[in-house]
Amino acid sequence: MDYDKLLDRARASIPDKEKLTSGERFETPKAVLMIQGNKTIITNYGDICSRIRRTDVEFAKYLFKELAVPGEVQAGRLILSGKFSDRVVNDRIQNYVTTAVICKECRKPDTHLEGIDRHLKMLICEACGAKAPVRI
Ligand SMILES: [Zn+2]
Repeated sequence: MDYDKLLDRARASIPDKEKLTSGERFETPKAVLMIQGNKTIITNYGDICSRIRRTDVEFAKYLFKELAVPGEVQAGRLILSGKFSDRVVNDRIQNYVTTAVICKECRKPDTHLEGIDRHLKMLICEACGAKAPVRI
Protein backbone atom coordinates (compact mmCIF):
# COMPACT_ATOMS: atom_id res chain seq x y z
CA MET A 1 0.00 0.00 0.00
CA ASP A 2 1.45 3.37 -0.87
CA TYR A 3 1.86 6.31 1.41
CA ASP A 4 -0.63 8.62 -0.34
CA LYS A 5 -3.37 6.07 -0.02
CA LEU A 6 -2.63 5.63 3.65
CA LEU A 7 -2.75 9.37 4.09
CA ASP A 8 -6.05 9.66 2.22
CA ARG A 9 -7.54 6.97 4.35
CA ALA A 10 -6.33 8.66 7.54
CA ARG A 11 -7.86 11.94 6.40
CA ALA A 12 -11.13 10.34 5.41
CA SER A 13 -11.52 8.79 8.84
CA ILE A 14 -11.52 12.15 10.62
CA PRO A 15 -14.96 13.67 11.12
CA ASP A 16 -15.41 17.07 9.47
CA LYS A 17 -15.91 18.97 12.67
CA GLU A 18 -12.46 18.01 13.82
CA LYS A 19 -10.73 19.23 10.71
CA LEU A 20 -8.93 22.47 11.16
CA THR A 21 -10.04 25.35 9.04
CA SER A 22 -6.67 26.93 8.46
CA GLY A 23 -3.00 26.36 8.90
CA GLU A 24 -1.40 23.01 9.37
CA ARG A 25 -3.43 20.35 11.00
CA PHE A 26 -2.07 18.61 14.05
CA GLU A 27 -1.73 14.92 13.37
CA THR A 28 -2.98 12.97 16.34
CA PRO A 29 -0.39 10.28 17.02
CA LYS A 30 -1.63 6.74 16.50
CA ALA A 31 -1.07 4.11 19.15
CA VAL A 32 0.80 0.98 18.15
CA LEU A 33 -0.64 -1.89 20.16
CA MET A 34 0.62 -5.25 21.17
CA ILE A 35 -1.66 -7.75 22.90
CA GLN A 36 0.01 -10.00 25.45
CA GLY A 37 -2.25 -12.43 27.24
CA ASN A 38 -5.03 -10.22 28.56
CA LYS A 39 -2.97 -7.06 28.52
CA THR A 40 -2.72 -4.39 25.86
CA ILE A 41 0.60 -2.65 25.51
CA ILE A 42 0.93 0.71 23.78
CA THR A 43 4.47 0.33 22.49
CA ASN A 44 4.91 3.92 21.31
CA TYR A 45 3.38 5.50 24.41
CA GLY A 46 6.35 7.74 25.23
CA ASP A 47 6.30 9.13 21.72
CA ILE A 48 2.56 9.84 21.90
CA CYS A 49 3.02 11.72 25.18
CA SER A 50 5.76 13.91 23.82
CA ARG A 51 3.77 14.66 20.66
CA ILE A 52 0.74 15.76 22.68
CA ARG A 53 2.93 17.45 25.29
CA ARG A 54 1.58 15.58 28.28
CA THR A 55 3.50 13.66 30.90
CA ASP A 56 3.19 9.88 30.79
CA VAL A 57 1.47 9.87 34.19
CA GLU A 58 -0.97 12.63 33.28
CA PHE A 59 -2.13 10.97 30.06
CA ALA A 60 -2.17 7.48 31.61
CA LYS A 61 -4.69 8.68 34.22
CA TYR A 62 -7.04 9.68 31.46
CA LEU A 63 -6.69 6.37 29.61
CA PHE A 64 -7.16 4.32 32.78
CA LYS A 65 -10.34 6.23 33.53
CA GLU A 66 -11.72 6.13 29.99
CA LEU A 67 -10.96 2.46 29.49
CA ALA A 68 -11.94 1.63 33.09
CA VAL A 69 -8.87 -0.52 33.74
CA PRO A 70 -5.70 -0.11 35.75
CA GLY A 71 -2.31 -0.19 34.15
CA GLU A 72 1.25 1.01 34.42
CA VAL A 73 3.83 3.00 32.57
CA GLN A 74 7.00 1.04 31.96
CA ALA A 75 10.00 2.27 29.99
CA GLY A 76 8.05 4.39 27.53
CA ARG A 77 5.30 1.83 27.10
CA LEU A 78 1.85 1.79 28.64
CA ILE A 79 0.54 -1.54 29.84
CA LEU A 80 -3.24 -1.73 30.16
CA SER A 81 -4.88 -4.55 32.09
CA GLY A 82 -7.40 -5.55 29.47
CA LYS A 83 -7.72 -6.31 25.77
CA PHE A 84 -8.51 -3.36 23.59
CA SER A 85 -8.76 -2.93 19.85
CA ASP A 86 -6.80 -0.40 17.90
CA ARG A 87 -9.94 1.55 17.29
CA VAL A 88 -10.99 1.83 20.92
CA VAL A 89 -7.58 3.05 22.06
CA ASN A 90 -7.10 5.46 19.18
CA ASP A 91 -10.61 6.87 19.63
CA ARG A 92 -9.74 7.73 23.23
CA ILE A 93 -6.51 9.38 22.15
CA GLN A 94 -8.37 11.38 19.52
CA ASN A 95 -10.96 12.47 22.10
CA TYR A 96 -8.26 13.59 24.48
CA VAL A 97 -6.48 15.57 21.77
CA THR A 98 -9.72 17.22 20.67
CA THR A 99 -10.87 18.18 24.16
CA ALA A 100 -7.66 18.59 26.16
CA VAL A 101 -4.81 19.39 23.78
CA ILE A 102 -5.95 21.47 20.82
CA CYS A 103 -6.53 25.15 21.59
CA LYS A 104 -10.15 26.13 20.93
CA GLU A 105 -9.09 29.54 19.64
CA CYS A 106 -6.08 29.04 17.40
CA ARG A 107 -6.35 25.25 16.94
CA LYS A 108 -2.69 24.71 17.80
CA PRO A 109 -1.51 21.88 20.04
CA ASP A 110 0.95 24.08 21.97
CA THR A 111 -0.94 23.85 25.23
CA HIS A 112 -0.70 22.59 28.77
CA LEU A 113 -3.21 21.80 31.49
CA GLU A 114 -3.38 23.32 34.92
CA GLY A 115 -5.35 21.51 37.56
CA ILE A 116 -8.21 23.30 39.25
CA ASP A 117 -9.62 20.27 40.97
CA ARG A 118 -9.83 16.54 40.35
CA HIS A 119 -12.15 16.83 37.37
CA LEU A 120 -11.67 20.35 36.13
CA LYS A 121 -8.57 21.58 34.37
CA MET A 122 -7.65 24.76 32.59
CA LEU A 123 -6.33 24.33 29.07
CA ILE A 124 -3.78 27.05 28.52
CA CYS A 125 -2.49 27.85 25.06
CA GLU A 126 1.15 28.85 24.81
CA ALA A 127 0.68 30.05 21.24
CA CYS A 128 -2.19 32.53 21.66
CA GLY A 129 -2.72 32.74 25.42
CA ALA A 130 -6.31 31.49 25.34
CA LYS A 131 -7.64 29.67 28.40
CA ALA A 132 -10.52 27.26 28.46
CA PRO A 133 -11.85 24.99 31.20
CA VAL A 134 -11.95 21.29 30.33
CA ARG A 135 -13.53 18.45 32.22
CA ILE A 136 -11.49 15.32 31.89
ZN1 LIG B 1 -4.27 29.14 21.06
